[in-house]
Amino acid sequence: MSRKTFSLAELEELLLGHWPGGDAALAARARQVMAEEVGEEVRLRGLLEFSNRCASDCYYCGIRRSSDTDDGGHPLVRFDLTEEAILEGAQLCLQEGYGSMTLQAGERRDRAFIDFVEGVLRKIKEETVTPDLPRGLGITLSVGEQTRETYARFFDAGAHRYLLRVETSDPRLFARLHPPEQTLERRIRALEDLKATGFQVGTGVMIGIPGQTARDLARDILFFRKIDADMIGMGPYIEAAGSARQEMLHRGLLPESSPPERLRLSLRMIAATRLALRDVNIAAATALQALSPTGREQGLAFGANVLMPIVTPGGQRKAYQLYQGKPCVEETARECIACTPRRAAWARRPVSYHSWGDAPHARRKPETASGTPPPARSGTTGATKAFAERSPS
Ligand code: SF4
Repeated sequence: MSRKTFSLAELEELLLGHWPGGDAALAARARQVMAEEVGEEVRLRGLLEFSNRCASDCYYCGIRRSSDTDDGGHPLVRFDLTEEAILEGAQLCLQEGYGSMTLQAGERRDRAFIDFVEGVLRKIKEETVTPDLPRGLGITLSVGEQTRETYARFFDAGAHRYLLRVETSDPRLFARLHPPEQTLERRIRALEDLKATGFQVGTGVMIGIPGQTARDLARDILFFRKIDADMIGMGPYIEAAGSARQEMLHRGLLPESSPPERLRLSLRMIAATRLALRDVNIAAATALQALSPTGREQGLAFGANVLMPIVTPGGQRKAYQLYQGKPCVEETARECIACTPRRAAWARRPVSYHSWGDAPHARRKPETASGTPPPARSGTTGATKAFAERSPS
């Protein structure tokens, strides 16, 4: 297959549903490119949500700083998992053969939080070394915008992938969704800092934001390409849970398109991203399942290759509802573990176990293939060295 470079206009047409043969043909083409570039296997990351405290105030988010009630109108309980609980989650991932985990929390930049995360990363790496994983579990971290120095500390401590969604690359939409102190410029700078630190970088957007056009989404895909993203995590725009929903209502930010429309657009977005970026990892996000019971399976059918079974303890799941109707909040980690292979089987896909499952895109980069370190950074310690020593599995 020729390596076609998609233009803005072509991506827009695709997102509008004008692919020859329709969405089924689009999904088939995306699957073909996926099989060629990253393989058929579904890669797993156990998702551990370890704190719902957040210093930021994104208007669409159920755990934003100003949120005070949950979905049921009860006071929102803020939680922090202990180090022991996080290490238990890591051991669970290891036992299940996941090979990788994603640690996610609200955005905090205070010293206590940063020290805690750094310490936990080191412990996970120490305690998860096996013959299959000589460098321990692969870790994706997702704790928002931080300073370069903090990114370097997290990288040195053992995280090697970082997910920081831009949510939209359109400045006008970004400004509508965030308070003035949170800017698109700062988000993009953080993505650049992550790359300079040596992380494999993931980003993504919300699909179906009021006022967002197919052209905006096509631009988002070109943005992913421009920043040279290694992984993409994106999902439909869904109204917030709890009191944050009132804020969205007040600001005219509730979704305008129907759930089936947003699901269809999200699936086209996955396929379009696969066709345009080819060898990156693309997650079939949990949010797809909020719009359809088979949302994540459909994501796999349109070219996604990553599933993130939730391993957050059952008691904390309800308090980590970024959006209304989040699936799997009643389930236990064991139940999510059991249903993951079924989702892959629905999409007729094998599952990859006992490997980090990095994107070929990351492995093909000159600095990774040759061991040449990423650009030097100021104010860091051994991150560059650690990167050069770290070979993907
Ligand atoms: S989206 Fe992330 S940074 Fe924004 S309020 Fe929610 S948890 Fe915090």
